[in-house]
Amino acid sequence: MAEKVRIFDTTLRDGEQSPGATLMHRQKMLIAKQLAKLNVDVIEAGFPIASEDDFLAVKEIAETVKGPTICALSRAIPKDIDRAWEAIQNAKNPRIHTFMSSSDVHLKYQFKISRKEALQMSIEAVKRSCSYCKDVEFSPMDATRTDPKFLFQMVEAAIDAGATTINIPDTVGYAQPIEFGALIKAVIEHVPGIKNAVVSVHCHNDLGLAVANSLEAVRNGARQVECTVNGLGERAGNASLEEIVMNLHIRKSIFNCSTGINLRQLYPSSQMVTNLTGISVQRNKAIVGENAFAHEAGIHQHGLIADSQTYEIMNPEMIGKTTKLVLGKHSGRHATKKVLAEMGFNLTEQQLKQVSQKIKQLADKQKTVLEEDIIAIASDVTRQLVQEKRRIELDEVRVNTGNKVKPTATVTLMIDGKKKTAQGKGVGPVDAVASAIQSMLPERISLKEYHLKAITGGTDALADVVIKVQNGKGNVYNAESINEDIIMASANALVKGINKALASKKSKSRA
Ligand SMILES: [Zn+2]
Repeated sequence: MAEKVRIFDTTLRDGEQSPGATLMHRQKMLIAKQLAKLNVDVIEAGFPIASEDDFLAVKEIAETVKGPTICALSRAIPKDIDRAWEAIQNAKNPRIHTFMSSSDVHLKYQFKISRKEALQMSIEAVKRSCSYCKDVEFSPMDATRTDPKFLFQMVEAAIDAGATTINIPDTVGYAQPIEFGALIKAVIEHVPGIKNAVVSVHCHNDLGLAVANSLEAVRNGARQVECTVNGLGERAGNASLEEIVMNLHIRKSIFNCSTGINLRQLYPSSQMVTNLTGISVQRNKAIVGENAFAHEAGIHQHGLIADSQTYEIMNPEMIGKTTKLVLGKHSGRHATKKVLAEMGFNLTEQQLKQVSQKIKQLADKQKTVLEEDIIAIASDVTRQLVQEKRRIELDEVRVNTGNKVKPTATVTLMIDGKKKTAQGKGVGPVDAVASAIQSMLPERISLKEYHLKAITGGTDALADVVIKVQNGKGNVYNAESINEDIIMASANALVKGINKALASKKSKSRA
């Protein structure tokens, strides 16, 4: 019998700490519901002490998302633990995750405390967490740079105090698979109480080894893996959920472990997280990248036509990626709703109406409407409606461009309910629109990055624009918009980014 590996998703906590990935409350709710559909075992919903926003999002997820255990992070400090519990107490299966550094370098320079003090704080934190909740996870932070003897001692103490999951993090992404596997094995061998706890791992990708390290840990006895959709996370990110899950699935004979993940929700989850965070995955990313199943070489294509197994170890349908025509001009609302539900979108009637309209418009223009188009449209619509505060609305855009005129744009915005119009010049029409918009803003917000891609097909394809804007304090916000028209996609993305920058007063959490 294959043993179960629990999938602990930290997209909403560690993933949300990715530079520029700040998610709004409604967006977090959408992702949490999608994670439940994906059937992860644990959702780490946030770090409640970090901000009021974080607290409220964790609380609502705990109260409304059914299925997975809902976990809240807290430092080994009483007020953190109390706040974490306050946020998750109404979950059906709540978990408190508390952590304390164990490496000398952290204790000496960051915390300025002795090993003895760190040990005492850990024990007290676990005991306080256990007084609220029977499911308690403890992490010795920076475990891979900790003296193993002290690590074993801290883990044993945490289990004695009541911890039911022990998470060994490679906080700085320093470990190599061979050492990390050996470390997990050593923890299991040297900590007598470990049989009363689940061993978990949390690997960062600074050297590109987060997935490899996590898998080696599973081979050595870890039974929970912490990971994020698309591998989002601090710096180079965390272990990618889809890669962990597909490795365990495709190479079952090596691991003899299974997960409860609904594989067909992997691709929709990846698309949703891309769209809501505005952070795209690289084209050649394993499993969910745009090219992951694309074959260009003639000899491969020939082989594939003869038999798909010649060059494919898995197929796109397995992860819920199908490039077939699913909806057309004549598809009714009911069919649209069903297809969208299968893709992981639960839309309101109003959203459904908007999505159906856009699909029809696109079907009029291009012959086929592919699944990617539908996901893009649905994500765009849900994202528009989840924007909480929109101080700025786009009213009208006109551009004048060509090879013999200086590109100019006239843009009308509604700013806090008042209509304003301005003109802008630029090297091209998009630049002219951006300068017109920026000249009307109540505070300085600059465009830091601009990316454009066509989602499918030719010159009538949907244009997908992803931008980054920066406010005066140096905070960066992502936004994305999809439209058949490049200028409109660009203008909408810019307005979305500006609204995010104007609305957000959140301080970023660190853990
Ligand atoms: Zn982390």
